[in-house]
Amino acid sequence: MLISFVIPCYRSETTIEKVIAEIAVTMALREDNDFEIICVNDCSPDKVYEVLTRISSKNPKVKIINFSRNFGKAAAVLAGYARCRGEVVVSLDDDGQCPVDKTWELVDALNDNCDLSIADYPQKKESAFKRFGSAVNSSVMNFLIKQPENITINNFWAMKRFVAEEMIKYKNSYPALHPLLVQTTHSIIMVPMEERNRADNNKTGFTFWKSFKLMINGFTNFSVVPLRLASVMGLMIAIVGFIYGLIVIIRKIVNPDILIGYSSLMAVLLFIGGIIMILLGVIGEYLGRIYVCINKAPQYVVKDTINLYDNEEG
Ligand code: UDP
Ligand code: MG
Repeated sequence: MLISFVIPCYRSETTIEKVIAEIAVTMALREDNDFEIICVNDCSPDKVYEVLTRISSKNPKVKIINFSRNFGKAAAVLAGYARCRGEVVVSLDDDGQCPVDKTWELVDALNDNCDLSIADYPQKKESAFKRFGSAVNSSVMNFLIKQPENITINNFWAMKRFVAEEMIKYKNSYPALHPLLVQTTHSIIMVPMEERNRADNNKTGFTFWKSFKLMINGFTNFSVVPLRLASVMGLMIAIVGFIYGLIVIIRKIVNPDILIGYSSLMAVLLFIGGIIMILLGVIGEYLGRIYVCINKAPQYVVKDTINLYDNEEG
């Protein structure tokens, strides 16, 4: 069996070599299997590309895809999926946080009833802020797109080839991995293991802004629920405004001496104004995305590849 490892690389010049070496050691445990490692350099600002070029010149199993600019983790992973050839595809990070020695547990979990096996970390090694972001993200995801219960998509998983093939059919300019995975299969198993600390002492590459963008992608690309919520909210506010307007008119008719207060008027005006701005914003978000997508903005641009043949370029 050929197993493809897909690693998005960003700011990992000090860690990627260890990760690749550990994959080789783990794979050597079962020699009847072959493997390839596809590293996607997401235009990392450090020297990871030089490190990868050096490793791949000595080891043809290590293949490189080099992006022309930073496109984000999801795009990098999908580029790897589009060019991998394995029967089983393993996704992992470049910073040494994934317990690579447990790869076989993930691969062995795949069977007739399981298309995707995900590392289940009882304790995630991330900041409270990131944890909070992930928790909000996954509960909103649960609400927006139906997904099997008790599934958390972490940074390390193995899947059957068809899942990767299905995921790369998605050509939207703003990809997000989690919805694509659960949209493709519900035969998912969580395999408990311990997450490691980052092998370097660097912080996560996911700045607040990157995590926020990812969250918005997940919400808006895979669901029209926010748009629908916006309309329902707008309708409700309009009804309340209408009823309040009626009450004001009736009171004025019944008691013509009533002075309608300037402040309450302003309050209502501002409230309605605010709501309208929110609703316009939501609609604008979708409109902007439609615009970018009909322009066919690419998910990613590959500058060059190493150890990959032309016919493997998807
Ligand atoms: N990553 C990427 N492009 C980016 C940021 C991150 O390809 O712009 C990759 C990175 O190389 C790593 C994975 O996404 O393999 C997770 O990144 P990181 O470890 O920084 O985040 P965290 O562990 O906090 O999820
Ligand atoms: Mg990490």
